[in-house]
This record gives sequence, C-alpha cells and structure tokens, in this order.
Amino acid sequence: MTVDEAIEAGLIGPNLWLYSNYTCNLTCTYCLTESAPNVPARELSRERMQELAREAAALGFRGFGVTGGEPFLLTDMPGRLADLSELLPVTVLSNATAFNGDRLNGVKALGGKDVTIQISLDSAEPIKNDAMRGPENFRKVLAAIPRLLDAGVGVRIASTVEDPEHADLSDLCELHRSLGISDEDHVVRTIIRRGRAATEGMGETVGTTELFPELTVTADGAFWSPFAPTVADGRLDTDLLVTRSTRPLEHAAETLIRLVSGSGTTRYDDRFR
Ligand code: SF4
Repeated sequence: MTVDEAIEAGLIGPNLWLYSNYTCNLTCTYCLTESAPNVPARELSRERMQELAREAAALGFRGFGVTGGEPFLLTDMPGRLADLSELLPVTVLSNATAFNGDRLNGVKALGGKDVTIQISLDSAEPIKNDAMRGPENFRKVLAAIPRLLDAGVGVRIASTVEDPEHADLSDLCELHRSLGISDEDHVVRTIIRRGRAATEGMGETVGTTELFPELTVTADGAFWSPFAPTVADGRLDTDLLVTRSTRPLEHAAETLIRLVSGSGTTRYDDRFR
C-alpha cells in the first residue's frame, strides 16, 4: 500500500511531522520533551528538512507539521518554513514568546505564505496560564498574536488542559474570538503522561491504541506520532519508535503503514489526532 492510499484509507495522517529541535526558551510543567534552553538540540538541519519534505511531497503526503522544542529558536526557521510551503501547506507549533526584533521581522515575512503558526495558550487567566508555562507567558503571547495577524500570518491557538471534556473554556474561547481567531482555529488537547508531565504525575497514559499514526521524523528516527518522540529523565523514549532509518523516507513510511495494518487498531482517540 502506498502512502497516498494509506492516507486515503484513513490509516495514517496526511501530514509529515518534523521535529526541528528539542531546545526551548521555556520549561513548561507538562512538556513531553523535557525541553529547556540547555538540553541537547537533536536538530534536523535545514538541508535535511528540505530533503525530507521533497520526499514526502513525492510520496503523497498532504502537508507538513513542524514542532520541537521551540522551532523559532533556530534563527533561519522562517526561511525553512517558506521553503517547505513551496511544496505543501505547513503548520508550525510555537510558544510565540521569542518574537521580537529581527526574529519578529523574520516571522512576519511569512505573511501570505501557506504557513500557519499554532500558538500555545492554556487559559484566559494570566496567573493560571503562567503557572504551567512560565512568567510573562500570557502577556507575551497576547502581544505576539495581533502582530502576526497584522502581517498576514495564519495563526491558530492550541490549549493543553487536564480534562478537555469537562474544562470550562468559555473565557478562553471568548478571548481567542476577540483576537480574531475563529473556533475552527482553536485546538484543545489533553495533557499526555510523558516527559515532564509523567514526572509531575499529570495527564493520560497513551500508546498506539490511542494515538493516531502520523509519521514523525526527528534527528533520531521515525516515530508513530508527534506525541511519541518524548524524553524522560534526559533520555529519548523509544517505545513508539517506528525505525531508526529515515533514508529513504519511503522506508519509514512503509514501516509505519505495515505496523498500522498489522495492529488491528481501527479506532483511535480523536483527542490525539
Ligand atoms: S511545552 Fe513547548 S513551549 Fe513548553 S517547554 Fe515544551 S517545547 Fe517549550
């Protein structure tokens, strides 16, 4: 079965996910990758990202997701994203707290391109939001969003909460609507018990039964989903590793499709798509 056929059949997700780097300027309480300023970068080079993207487009993937760590700590990230968007639409996950000076100008240059920045914001209450994500996080995010929208950059908001089904998100939804971000562009996710969340005893335990398969490539290999290449006590988790070999990408894609086809799992939890 080809990638195109597997996507059409709903066996795997339509996007190729790339972990650009594991470093971050923040140290969020529930971070799956134990990201922080001084952790090993595990970076995918610009050339490698471009190579993977070209292969993915040829295989039939429909888009790219870029995540980390904080991708925009890599100063050439806007150029990398612009390159990828020439091939397929791109969604990049960001904490949006490092957008100032030259970096902000670089991000603004993405205006009009097929790049959407998915920004984390967990609560309409600054104290509650910042308790998980760090001091001044709320203020910085709310300062960044209008600047990006004014520059024509696509913005979505992602909220990570303990119990999405029972959480009262009305204030948060009112806030994102007031910023000009529609309900369709607000993603709500549950905390996953991996990385720092596991250390803190937070979130839900997941595996291949719950996680929708979405091919995810890091500097260390190919994984089952963007929630898979996590870090615990400084060591990469390999329980959801698909293969160490990502050259060619087709090999990794075929391995994932084979695993999915053989797993017998046909219903995944929609919260982890
Ligand atoms: S959750 Fe995101 S923003 Fe927070 S430390 Fe981890 S990578 Fe950085």
